[in-house]
Amino acid sequence: MISDPRAGKMCLGLALAALAAFVATAAWVGPAAAADGKLRIITFGAHPDDCELDTAGVAAKWAALGHKVKCVSVTNGDIGHSVIAGGPLALRRRAESQHAARILGIETEVLDNHDGELMVTLENRRRIARLIRDWQADVVISHRPNDYHPDHRYTGVLVMDAAYMVQVPFFTPEVPPLTRNPVFLFSEDQFQKPNPFSGDIVVGIDDVVDKKLAVVEAMESQFYEGGCCDVPAGGMPQDAAGKEARRKQVHDFFASRFAATADRFRSRLAEYYGADRAAGIKYAEAFEICEYGRQPTKEEVRQLFPFLPSR
Ligand SMILES: [Zn+2]
Repeated sequence: MISDPRAGKMCLGLALAALAAFVATAAWVGPAAAADGKLRIITFGAHPDDCELDTAGVAAKWAALGHKVKCVSVTNGDIGHSVIAGGPLALRRRAESQHAARILGIETEVLDNHDGELMVTLENRRRIARLIRDWQADVVISHRPNDYHPDHRYTGVLVMDAAYMVQVPFFTPEVPPLTRNPVFLFSEDQFQKPNPFSGDIVVGIDDVVDKKLAVVEAMESQFYEGGCCDVPAGGMPQDAAGKEARRKQVHDFFASRFAATADRFRSRLAEYYGADRAAGIKYAEAFEICEYGRQPTKEEVRQLFPFLPSR
């Protein structure tokens, strides 16, 4: 679905005009391409919970400043549960993503690809490129291509494959090409081969961690019930005390996970915030700059992440 009214059909003449505009404006001219000066960020996750879990903190921060964030789930998550599957689960997970988006103040879209079946196809490359163009993205975030889940890996590859093509006028010419390349980022993971994740950009999220934890709670099918494979031992509690204990268990698990990112990249936090302030940051999100797409300077990173302190 095209969600941005600025997107539209493009004839050959417009394509040539766009090519000329691309040549004329390829240089970086400021933090945001949009006329209103607002940044536009699009995040891709393989399933309805991935981009929320990876980027909820920065998404809430961007949204609070009036910037525009969209979360795209590339599959509908329809096998991501130990008991239910198919259409009813896809609908439930779409509703959870919409709930999370309301908490964060962002937009969301769930593509109707089956969970566990995503492939790197030309059709999917075109679809991802169109979504980035429709959103007029300044920043694009996705998985790295060496993730544990095939849908995560292929989401990463599809976004990387679009990283150059979003500017090419005659690739999917029905949607105008971007006149400058966005910055492409990867969200954090723990995988070591062929190379570990490098936290090039690390953001303290203490001020919005309650929203991020509310997002975790909103995605009940995944984090409370355990998705496809992380069902609590003995099954889901049915009594009130058991349910409350489970909620606390989930809350504490994710709070410690978000804190682990701050600990993992404490020295990088110090580069952005200074050592004293970095030492007091409890929760963080981290991002790696993809070698494809625009390569931002440190100053451009601060413009794209305007909640980072200026130095
Ligand atoms: Zn996933």
